Amino acid sequence: LTDKIAALPPDSNYFSLEFFPPKTQQGFANLQARLSRMSQALRPLFVNVTWGAGGSTSAKSLALAELTQRSLGLTTCLHLTCTNMSRKLVDEALEQAKVLGVRNILALRGDPPRSEEYRDDSNPNAEEDDSNKDFTWAVDLVQYIRKQYGDYFCIGVAGYPEGHSDQSHPEHQSVEHDLPYLVEKTKAGADFIMTQLFYDVQAYQKYERQLREHESGLMPVQSYQILRRTTKLSHSSLPPELLKRFEAVKGDDEAVKRVGVDVISEIVQAMKDMPGQGPRGFHFYTLNLEKVVTQILERSDLIPPSTPMVAANGRNGNVEEAI
Ligand code: FAD
Repeated sequence: LTDKIAALPPDSNYFSLEFFPPKTQQGFANLQARLSRMSQALRPLFVNVTWGAGGSTSAKSLALAELTQRSLGLTTCLHLTCTNMSRKLVDEALEQAKVLGVRNILALRGDPPRSEEYRDDSNPNAEEDDSNKDFTWAVDLVQYIRKQYGDYFCIGVAGYPEGHSDQSHPEHQSVEHDLPYLVEKTKAGADFIMTQLFYDVQAYQKYERQLREHESGLMPVQSYQILRRTTKLSHSSLPPELLKRFEAVKGDDEAVKRVGVDVISEIVQAMKDMPGQGPRGFHFYTLNLEKVVTQILERSDLIPPSTPMVAANGRNGNVEEAI
């Protein structure tokens, strides 16, 4: 990813789309058709494939990565968590990713084990689960990948513009608390940072001032209930003026989606207009849906031309190279 981003013309924007592996074969077939349409029509710089905490979706995530990377030829970033999961599964996932030609891993901790009890018989990995010894934090996974694979993988890590919250900490953790650990992850060899979703541009801008070279996350709005639930779960704040706009139409899903398209397009524009070094990349949590993200990308003018040509020698454009 970092090579692909570096090859883009200076100051150009790009975007990526995130998908989760469907549970059923029918769901997989539907997503396959949708992905094929979206990759041709929208031309994301890369796509992300999520990983179920504890390796719960390992086979399905790898199958989806095979579809995106191998069959559709999309540069794929595979998410991989490391806690509550056997080291064997981590090794298998990395080896399989390499076989599939996946060169990018988003190294995550995942959900922490609820307690020591997770090593009980109900955990299929219990017997061989040595994950606690090797992997406590995401930084351990970053170090492990670098040790095992050198520079083969481009590694990303998670960042939290509004702080981090999970079941292992009773208190919500502030950005200031989280930042040293983020620095630790980059020092261990992470190449890029991908953020938690957010709707509050100001919170993001504040975070931005503390960081450089990153990718920011946005989730299109599909319904009022989903909006409230995801903002609560991810600890993302919804500024009051945005909340008012959604509340005015909350009974009408189609109107909520329209307001969502307006709001996210405004957020992208506000970030493009940021003085100094604003973000160049926009990452969309698609929830595997097509219509709303397509509208936002069109509105935000993020879709690259169908035969992207990059001036290899800077702005003169005498020598051009297709990417
Ligand atoms: P870490 O970087 O390890 O940090 C976790 C917490 O521990 C932070 O609060 C940090 O401040 C603290 N911490 C870190 N190191 C230390 C230390 N040495 N001592 C004390 N405290 C420390 N989850 C999934 O299961 N599957 C996915 O596909 C997935 N995709 C994601 C994509 C993005 C872009 C993001 C932002 C999150 C994603 N998550 C996913 C969620 C993620 O797994 C959780 O947020 C998890 O709780 C933390 O993961 P992390 O990699 O940020 O952990």
